[in-house]
Amino acid sequence: MKNIEPKNNIGDCFRLLPMQKKALERLGIKTVEDLLFHFPVRYSDISKIYKICDLVEDQLATVYGRIGKIKIRKSFRTKIPMAEAIIEDSTGKLKIIWFHQAYIAKMVHEGSLVGLQGKISGSKTSKAGLYMSNPEIEKTKDLPIDANNTLFTKTSEIFGMPIYPESRGITSRWFYHTIQKIFTSGTLDKITDSIPEDILKKYNLPSLKTALIWIHSPKKESDARVARKRFAFEEIFYIQLSRQQSKKEYNKRASFCIDIDKNKLEQFITRFSFELTESQQQAISIITSDMSKDKPMLRLLEGDVGSGKTAVAATVSFAIISSRKKNAQYENLQVAYMAPTEVLAKQLFESFAQYFAHLPIQIGLVTGTGCKKFPSKIITDSKKTTTSISRAQLLKWVANGETNILIGTHSLIQKIVTFKNLACVIVDEQHRFGTEQRAKLAQKSEVSPHFLSMTATPIPRTLALTIYGDLDLTLLDKMPLGRKPVITEIVLPNAREEIYKKIHKELERGKQVYIICPRIDEPDPDKEQALLVKSVKEEAERLKRNVFQKYTIGILHGKMPPRSITPSIESKESIMRAFANHEIDILVATSMIEVGINIPNATIIVIEGAERFGLAQLHQLRGRVLRSTDQAYCYIFADTKTEKTSARLKALKTAKNGFELAELDLMLRGAGELVGKKQWGISDIGMEAIKNIKMVEAAQTEAKKIIEKDSDLKKYPFLKKQAKKFTIPLHFE
Ligand code: ADP
Ligand code: MG
Repeated sequence: MKNIEPKNNIGDCFRLLPMQKKALERLGIKTVEDLLFHFPVRYSDISKIYKICDLVEDQLATVYGRIGKIKIRKSFRTKIPMAEAIIEDSTGKLKIIWFHQAYIAKMVHEGSLVGLQGKISGSKTSKAGLYMSNPEIEKTKDLPIDANNTLFTKTSEIFGMPIYPESRGITSRWFYHTIQKIFTSGTLDKITDSIPEDILKKYNLPSLKTALIWIHSPKKESDARVARKRFAFEEIFYIQLSRQQSKKEYNKRASFCIDIDKNKLEQFITRFSFELTESQQQAISIITSDMSKDKPMLRLLEGDVGSGKTAVAATVSFAIISSRKKNAQYENLQVAYMAPTEVLAKQLFESFAQYFAHLPIQIGLVTGTGCKKFPSKIITDSKKTTTSISRAQLLKWVANGETNILIGTHSLIQKIVTFKNLACVIVDEQHRFGTEQRAKLAQKSEVSPHFLSMTATPIPRTLALTIYGDLDLTLLDKMPLGRKPVITEIVLPNAREEIYKKIHKELERGKQVYIICPRIDEPDPDKEQALLVKSVKEEAERLKRNVFQKYTIGILHGKMPPRSITPSIESKESIMRAFANHEIDILVATSMIEVGINIPNATIIVIEGAERFGLAQLHQLRGRVLRSTDQAYCYIFADTKTEKTSARLKALKTAKNGFELAELDLMLRGAGELVGKKQWGISDIGMEAIKNIKMVEAAQTEAKKIIEKDSDLKKYPFLKKQAKKFTIPLHFE
């Protein structure tokens, strides 16, 4: 056998079939090391072999037998090739179906003796009966004599066969055996453990070598668990290291130290047409006290849609602009406020123009399509208006410090925008801006500006601590008083007609409705989209035909172009505009409908197949009708066969805010089900840590300690490499 080195290509160490080569490519596995870090998703219990006659539905089972008839056909509806076979043991016969895996039929023949492991689907009472879908297959020489003879003589040392993430063309068996060969070759001794030994000891975590062996071939259940724990810790630790590094970097420079005049601040606040909530007051006090230190603030303000983040941002901006640069009494301090879309930037500009109308200050708006300023002239009466101006003129005023507050979209971070004394950066909807953008904004000032990030995405605390590990957290967890909550009903299947009647009434009053079609779980994102589009179209047709004949129904889904210059081609933008102009009464859409759209006349949202959504996501969807001045309704249609599902959905009526729901999602459904999982760049195993606050805190504590002493990780070259993988690159222009 060739020498197996960690960095060697797998193809150079092992003979691969073309099919296996392709599968490894798809999984992104190139080297021996990649293969070692490709972890099983679960382990099958090999001690239990079932007799075919004992099988029941929904069970995960291992059976042994002889393959009978085998054939390939295309599925009736989707035309996807699939393989079908019969397996027979001494007690009965069972159908096997390999969806999307027609190639399996080429690997076994009639009469082959095999062991199969997989899920039992179908039902005993249906016409098709029970069948096993997409089982793992292994050819064997003999059949077991009784149920306790496992036949796995070689592997009986392990507690379960590892099952790897599914990929066409390569089996879990192949992974298992190949990795065993790597283990016996001594390669493990050539891989460096990047986690310092004292940390492993302190938290009782296994070394890298041990963890790799345990995760791929656990002798007992706890081996696998402990190994996974180590890898979960490891990932969170690397993420923390990279965040703490970027924080330290940001903190290297001083920032403007803001003088807070409590009386003036109080006066500004009393001008709002409402009284601030307790959470808003607390947030303002924490933020202003942060800013009065000479260290830059790095803070994340999390609050549900409608919790009043803008009022906090306005008050903070006031604190900045009413302060002066030290030893330069006439120099203004400036605020940059970045919004995720042009519409939101314009809305903010208008609100700020109102909030600051009584003060002799200038506000600018810069977006991709044009610039504005407020007030149009230097006058102090109440007839101040906004006016369009050239970009060059506005940017000149920003550069010489005359513009106090600049609001904009990402145009704000363009190279040509320079500030005189940028003291604070406010970013709305943090998740759309990375540390990279923050770094770019920071470059616009000789000091590090105070940084306030605001988001309405409900995520659990552990996750926030991880992905925003460089930011301090503040929650706006109370909603303003007097807001009418959305009336939420969990609708049982037999009450559908009744709800449609209620919706008719609202439509007659001239109101509009969103109908959200269920999420579709499908490993292939392309196919998932196609199915979603189909369900949106079908539901729209059904409603048009049978329920809402009198009304105009529009559809909106992710496969539509964002905008279109040809009027005959519908785009997301044209549909949203038609809905906003009330040319459409009912909008049937996927759950992807844009965050931040706000159509006050739409007062009803219907969510179909709600059992498939997380609570936090349902809450966000419901937020779509929250800003209506009229009473709003949310009807949740769910297949609530189980007690658990209905108990879970009921939380929507009792939970106080989105964060509570996000925590519940985490507890009830696990980290994999959290909203927006894909965008955070955390692996499945890393997400396991998100359930464990102690682990997340430990990772942060240890990372802080190391970065405090050695911010460049000079003494930890391996850690440095790993942390870099989780760093969002900082490109300075
Ligand atoms: P978000 O947190 O989603 O950005 P906004 O700041 O846009 O929320 O506030 C939503 C609405 O609530 C605005 O119309 C705002 O004027 C109003 N509002 C904010 N704070 C309060 C409050 N304490 N009491 C009553 N209304 C408030
Ligand atoms: Mg907002």
